[in-house]
Amino acid sequence: MDIDKIREDFPILSKKINGKSFIYFDSACTSLKPKKVIDAILAYYTEYTGCAGRSVHKFATRTTEEFEKAREKVAKFISAKRPEEIIWTKNTTEAINLVSHSFKFNKGDKVLTTNLEHSSGLMPWQLRAEKGDIVLDFVLCDKEGEFNIEEFKKKIDKKTKIVSVIHVSNVTGTKAPLEEIIKIAHDNGSLVLVDGAQSVPHISIDVRKLDIDFLAFSGHKMCGPTGIGCLYGKYDLLKELQPFIIGGETIRDADLKSHVLEEVPQRFEGGIQHYAGAIGLGAAVDYLSSIGMKNIENYEKETAKLLIEGLLTVPKIDLIGPKDYKKKGALAAFNIKGMEPHDVAIMLDEQNIFVRSGMHCAYPIHKFLHENKGSARASLYFYNTKEEIKTFIEKLNNIAKALG
Ligand code: PMP
Repeated sequence: MDIDKIREDFPILSKKINGKSFIYFDSACTSLKPKKVIDAILAYYTEYTGCAGRSVHKFATRTTEEFEKAREKVAKFISAKRPEEIIWTKNTTEAINLVSHSFKFNKGDKVLTTNLEHSSGLMPWQLRAEKGDIVLDFVLCDKEGEFNIEEFKKKIDKKTKIVSVIHVSNVTGTKAPLEEIIKIAHDNGSLVLVDGAQSVPHISIDVRKLDIDFLAFSGHKMCGPTGIGCLYGKYDLLKELQPFIIGGETIRDADLKSHVLEEVPQRFEGGIQHYAGAIGLGAAVDYLSSIGMKNIENYEKETAKLLIEGLLTVPKIDLIGPKDYKKKGALAAFNIKGMEPHDVAIMLDEQNIFVRSGMHCAYPIHKFLHENKGSARASLYFYNTKEEIKTFIEKLNNIAKALG
């Protein structure tokens, strides 16, 4: 991969801040956007603004075509069987909420999740548990933050309706063994919902090969715009869900007291949709495919090695999760003993290095690993260079030596 050439695709990367270039290490929060994506969004607003599936004029027809083309692209990107298995949502959060609110549970049904989940993968289930609709149970990870398969085997039982699991952790960077989890869950008669917010942007995912039942992900972490995400679901399972947002576009007939629902997926997409967002995400998927997800994955293995090994040279560093780079994505949450995570991030920001600090919407895992103040986090994407990693490690070393 020619990273210098790739960087030219991202207009923001040529920007100078206070006359200097910057290092963007916050892609787990949101990724940068290539020109092709920005152009696709702009085209919707400057060339053919309209509503999909409604008016019959040329702009509306073009909007419908582009909107549905984007759905097809996303479906192909994750190897879904058909485009109808992609429901547009605002983001991963809404996609998980769609399942948690719409799934028909029977009394005593259990949802099994983990202590590695992001708030968006945990709170939606807590809400159903608080209402008494489900029993919520947890598989705790091991001391390094890795998914504990033995514990999972013990916890799953005949009451377990759904296993809801984060694929790649946004804190420890560890990857759940999906093949094994899904096999065990399916043998038990349970469905599996995967939070793919941190995996779909970085690794090639084949929902059919993995036999995933539901997959939630966000456009903005994979070079797409904010405000658009997806829920993938097996068609027959989606047909069983009861829509929880309903109104315009979700029904095909109505009178004052009743309505007939649209087909899947339209029945879940209430009101005017984020057309520019979906079309932008379609362009993002084209862009990622043109680079090649395997190439991205391989390059990020190299940068993960540099990042993790580099961080381990920093004095007083407390690297969260495994110390072995082979067990992590290109993402590292860390603390420097004696310093607050926000102070580390502010000092890096002063040198135009952008990282995130805080709890990263993952309170339980921070508490489990005794990192009660949260952490600073450097998260990379394929447009980051090895030089940037070296600079980051150098600057962090200086901070740790001076203040840690
Ligand atoms: N799950 C994980 C693992 C995440 O990292 C994030 C975003 N930080 C989310 C869910 C939520 O994503 P969004 O805010 O786009 O809904």
